[in-house]
Amino acid sequence: MAFKHENVADLYDIGVVLGSGHFGQVRQVTERSTGAQWAGKFIKTRKSAGSRLGVERSAVEREVELLQALTHPSIMALKDVFECRAEMVLIVELISGGELFDFIAAKDNVTESEAIAFLKQILEGVGFMHSKHIAHFDLKPENIMLSDKDAANPTIKLIDFGLAHQFKQGEEYKSMCGTPQYIPPEVINYSPLSTATDMWSIGVITYILLSGLSPFQDNTDEETLRNIIAMKFEFPEHVFSMTSESAKDFIKKLLVKDPIERMTAEECLIHQWIKPMTRKQMANRNRSSINMKNFKKFNAKRKWKMSYNMVWMCNRFMRLQLLSSAAKGELRDCESDSEDTESKPASLMRRRLSSSS
Ligand code: ATP
Repeated sequence: MAFKHENVADLYDIGVVLGSGHFGQVRQVTERSTGAQWAGKFIKTRKSAGSRLGVERSAVEREVELLQALTHPSIMALKDVFECRAEMVLIVELISGGELFDFIAAKDNVTESEAIAFLKQILEGVGFMHSKHIAHFDLKPENIMLSDKDAANPTIKLIDFGLAHQFKQGEEYKSMCGTPQYIPPEVINYSPLSTATDMWSIGVITYILLSGLSPFQDNTDEETLRNIIAMKFEFPEHVFSMTSESAKDFIKKLLVKDPIERMTAEECLIHQWIKPMTRKQMANRNRSSINMKNFKKFNAKRKWKMSYNMVWMCNRFMRLQLLSSAAKGELRDCESDSEDTESKPASLMRRRLSSSS
C-alpha cells in the first residue's frame, strides 16, 4: 500500500476522539467524497533516531503491512495510510460497539454459551492470523472490540497490531513486550516466542471472562510475573461455582508452561466446550454462567486503571511541553522530544525492545 502524502484533513473531516493510545489518538473521520465513516489512527512518529518520544516509522510500516495481510471479519480492516513529517495516519474500519468486556459487564446474566459465541469469533480471528504466521502479542480486553453492540449477533473486532509480528521460516523471535497480567512465561524468560504466546493470553482472558478474577494478578507487577513463572493459579470454588468443568479444562489446556503443549486456535475450536459433541455437553454450557457480580467489579476496576493511566500520561506530556517551552523561552504547540527519568507505570513500559535472529 502506497503511503499518501496529501493532507489527511483535505480528504477527511476529522471528528471526535474515539480513544487514545501511547503515541496518539484515534478519531472518527468522514470521507469527504463519499460521506463514509471511518476511524483515523493518528500516530506521532519519531523526529530523530535519538528521540524516545513517538513511534519509529518502521514500526508503523510493520503494523500497516500486517493489517494488509489480515482481511478477516474479526480483524479491524485497513483502508489507507497518510504520512507527514511527524505523524502517520491509518484510516481503518470504524468500530462503534465499544469493548467486548464493557458490553458483557452491562448485562445482568450471561451464560457460558453466550460467552462462547464471542470467544469463537476471537479464536477464528486469531486462528486466521496464526495461519499467516502472525502473532498479535497484545491480546487483552482493551484490544477486543465489537463492530455494533446493537446488532442481534455483534461481531468481534481485534485491534491494535502495534506489537504484532510475522514469523519468517526458521526465525527465532524474542521480545519483552506485552501487559504483565496477560503474558506467558516465555516472554518473562526472554525465550523464543511463537503464535502459542497469544493462546496463553486467550486462556487468561477466558479465565477473567468467566470469573472476574485475573489468574496471576497480584499487588505488584513483580509479584504477578513471579506467579506466572511459578504457574501459580487455581480455580477457587467460591468464584468458579457457576463454571462448567469443560470450561476449566479449556483454560487448563491454554495456561500451560510449555508453548508446544498449549492448544492452538484450531484445537480450541474443536474443544468440547466450544464445540459440544453431545446433548449433555451442550446442556452444561447453557446451565453454567459468568460470575457477573465479580466480572462487573473486575471491569469497573480495569476502567478506573485505564483512566488513571491516561491522566498520568496527559500530565506527563503537559509537563514535558512546559519544560521544553521553558528551556526555549517560548510556548510551543507541538510534541516535545525531551526525556524524563521518572519511573513509569507498567502499562507505559509496554513497547520495549524486541530481537529476532
Ligand atoms: P496502545 O498504546 O494501547 O497500544 P495504540 O496507540 O496502538 O494504543 P489502539 O489501541 O489501536 O492505539 O487504539 C487506542 C484506542 O482507540 C482503543 O483502545 C479504542 O478505544 C480506540 N480505537 C482504536 N481503533 C478503533 C476503531 N477502529 N474504531 C473505534 N475506536 C477505535
